Amino acid sequence: MTGGRWPMKIKVQVVIESDGGDTKAVENIACLERGPLRPEDLGLTLAEAKNLLESVQCTLVEQQVTEYLEQQAHCPGCGKKRLRKGAHHPLVYRTLFGKLRLPSTRFFHCRCQLHAHRTFSPLAQLLTERTAPELLCLETKFASLMSYGLTVDILQEVLPIGNSINAATVRNNVHAVGQRIDKELGEERMVFIDGCEFDWEQLPRPDLPLTVGLDGGYVHSNSQSSRKEGWFEVIAGKSVTSEGASKCFAFVNNYDSKPKRRLFEVLKSQGMQTNQQVTFMSDGADTVRDLQLYMNPNAEHILDWFHITMRLTVMRQMAKGLGPPGFELRELALKQLEQIKWFLWHGNTFHALQTVSWLQMDIDADDPTEKHKKLLNKLDEFDAYIRNNAGLIPNYGERWRYGESISTAFVESTINQVVSKRMVKKQQMRWSQRGAHLLLQVRTRVLDDELREQFQKWYPRFVQQEQPLKKAA
Ligand SMILES: [Zn+2]
Repeated sequence: MTGGRWPMKIKVQVVIESDGGDTKAVENIACLERGPLRPEDLGLTLAEAKNLLESVQCTLVEQQVTEYLEQQAHCPGCGKKRLRKGAHHPLVYRTLFGKLRLPSTRFFHCRCQLHAHRTFSPLAQLLTERTAPELLCLETKFASLMSYGLTVDILQEVLPIGNSINAATVRNNVHAVGQRIDKELGEERMVFIDGCEFDWEQLPRPDLPLTVGLDGGYVHSNSQSSRKEGWFEVIAGKSVTSEGASKCFAFVNNYDSKPKRRLFEVLKSQGMQTNQQVTFMSDGADTVRDLQLYMNPNAEHILDWFHITMRLTVMRQMAKGLGPPGFELRELALKQLEQIKWFLWHGNTFHALQTVSWLQMDIDADDPTEKHKKLLNKLDEFDAYIRNNAGLIPNYGERWRYGESISTAFVESTINQVVSKRMVKKQQMRWSQRGAHLLLQVRTRVLDDELREQFQKWYPRFVQQEQPLKKAA
């Protein structure tokens, strides 16, 4: 074989057929050239693939738009030809495969009917948004999982969208999608319990209890006029059925006008019945406690065991810092912390609090160092925490033995999963309350794997799953 066969040339064309199957036009899309085979030029390069997609997109869209405008050229009322109104502004439309500038022809309305305006653009009426649904879905999905900047980088790298997107457009689109989701939420109510006790008894026997974990966290605010105003509170929750199916929700506290409705809809989608037992678990914060009131007549509220152990773990680490292994106070503190945990596990807050105060006295009696003071402070906080939430502390050990839930956070805390990973991992990230709230509406849909479903509701022909392409004849 001689070397004269190189370069190898492969032409890619698009053939446009008429209704009857005749060839109407042939468009040259690309010409691929290859030299002797090397690993790096086997098959398409990313740059070639991007070019190909962009060219095919342009050709396809041109055909679709021409066809559509031809259909619009006649009045549907009387069939008369509509008059065109001079030169037209291009309509800019962003798709997965490039930014399109569509010829948005304007027509004069036919006189056979009355119209508010003299002219109209059929394309502008059809494409009310300027981003294609599939690009919008992908943008918002990525942006809910990583920063707006990174979302732009990744989409630009793999799709032929050039510089048609930037962090600001992505953010605006996320906000728009979040707002659209929020708009579908029904009105807020104080009480979500319908009917009376007699009605509830008539309901079919409900499933096993639903468990709902509620948690609060703080996000850096972008409007900071004082140190104290630098943060705002976000509440996140997860509802788990007895089979383990879970759904999450989140909102910015004091910004969201429908927090109860939001929680109620999640519970309803999880199949909650009025006569069903619902266990709310939280770290006892008052805001969170308010939210779950009047949600269900069979609701109980307990302090999530996770939040107790988390605090004890922090204090254990501090106790270990008091001295080397074998150091008397260190060992004493560790032993008493273990006892506190054991008392609380059995719902015995009285003895737990008593042990806390004994431990405080023991530490106080030693030569007080900075480390001693820090642990004392933590013990003070813990004492107040247990006192304030004593009414929410059940006998965890007994619940555990009966197979009842004691925590929703054994795997991972909801607030960390829903909020922290996207919004607090970098201290310098700052948020507006609105921006954070809307992003959370998208993010919870993505975490529940429901974003595409949501888009399908809005755009009925939106493709849910990847489908194999039909082969050309
Ligand atoms: Zn007409």
